[in-house]
Amino acid sequence: MSIVELLNHKLINGIKVNEPMADHTSWQVGGPADYYVSPVGLDELVEVLSVCCERKIPALVIGNGTNLLVLDGGIRGMVINIGPSFSYVKPVGEKLIVGAGTPMTLLAFTAAEESLSGLEFTVGIPGSLGGAVIMNAGAFGGYIGEKVGLVRLVNLEGKLVELKRDELEFGYRTSNLIGKGVVYEIELNLTKGEQAVSKRQIDYFLAERQRRHPNLPSAGSVFRNLPDQPAGQIIEQAGAKGICIGGAEVSTQHANFIVNTGKATAADVLKLIKTVQALVKEQYGLELKPEVKIVGEELAE
Ligand SMILES: Cc1cc2nc3c(=O)[nH]c(=O)nc-3n(C[C@H](O)[C@H](O)[C@H](O)COP(=O)(O)OP(=O)(O)OC[C@H]3O[C@@H](n4cnc5c(N)ncnc54)[C@H](O)[C@@H]3O)c2cc1C
Repeated sequence: MSIVELLNHKLINGIKVNEPMADHTSWQVGGPADYYVSPVGLDELVEVLSVCCERKIPALVIGNGTNLLVLDGGIRGMVINIGPSFSYVKPVGEKLIVGAGTPMTLLAFTAAEESLSGLEFTVGIPGSLGGAVIMNAGAFGGYIGEKVGLVRLVNLEGKLVELKRDELEFGYRTSNLIGKGVVYEIELNLTKGEQAVSKRQIDYFLAERQRRHPNLPSAGSVFRNLPDQPAGQIIEQAGAKGICIGGAEVSTQHANFIVNTGKATAADVLKLIKTVQALVKEQYGLELKPEVKIVGEELAE
C-alpha cells in the first residue's frame, strides 16, 4: 500500500501531497512538502513516525512555522504539524501540563488566569510551546527553558520517551531536544502569583512588541545576537536597514527582522540574509549566525 493510501486510511485529517509550505510559515514563503500531516492525538503521531521510520521517509516536525525559512524547492519527505489537536493546558498545583501545539500567547493568558506567574514574557511569541521549548524561546530577559520540568516526546522510531529536568539542557535559542523526535507534552514549573500583576505585565509586553516589531510577515529575529551586542544594532550600523532583494526587505523598523513586502520568495530572503552577513563581515569582521532554521531545497536554476 502506498504511504498516501495508508495514511489517508489511518489519519482523521488524512495526508496532503505537494503541500505549499508558504501556507504554513509566518514568512509566507517556501515550496511544497512531498507529504504533510497534522496528526490528531498521540496514537496518530506514533503511527506517522513509525511508518516514516519503516519506509525511511525523512520527517520534519513543525509547530506554527514562525522560525522557519523553507526554501523554494520545498521539503523532500514528511512534514508533521503539531497543531491544534495538541493544544491544551491542564493546571496541577503550581504546574501546568501543556500540549506542544499550544500557542504561546494562549499559554501566557491561561497561566495568568490560573494566578500562576512566570510565563508573562511569552505573550506575543507567535509560535507553539513545542517549537518554543526546542528553540528555548525567550523575550524580555526570560527563557522558556527555565520553566520546563519535564518533556514528553515520541522519538524517531515511534517510541515514547520522557526527559526530566536534569536530562535537559537549554542554551541561547537551542536545546538538547533538537533531533530527538517530536515533543508532544511539556510540564512547566511556575509559582503562585497575582492575576492582576501578571495581566499588567502581559499588557506591557504586548504593547512593547507592537511598538518594536514590524507588522509584515516575518520570522522574528533572523540572526542570533552577538555576545555583547544585539544583532539588530550591528546590522543598522552596517547600513543594511531598508535593503531590498525582490520582495524581501531588511525592516526599516527593526533591523534584525527581514519582512516579506508581498511577493518575496525564499530565495529573496536567503540572498538578503547572505547580503547582510557579508556587509557586517566586511565592515566589522563579525560573523552573524541565523537564528531561524533554514530547511528544504533550493529551486534548481
Ligand atoms: C513576529 C515574530 C516575533 C517573534 N518573537 C520571538 C521572541 O520574542 N522570542 C523568540 O525566542 N522567538 C521569537 N520568534 C520566533 C518564533 O516564534 C519562536 O522561535 C517560536 O518558539 C517557534 O515556534 P514554532 O511553533 O513556530 O516553531 P517552528 O517554526 O514551527 O519550528 C522551529 C523549530 O522547532 C522544531 N519544532 C517545532 N515544534 C516541534 C515539536 N513539537 N517537537 C520537536 N520539534 C519541534 C522545528 O522542527 C524547527 O526546528 C518570533 C517570530 C515572529 C514571526
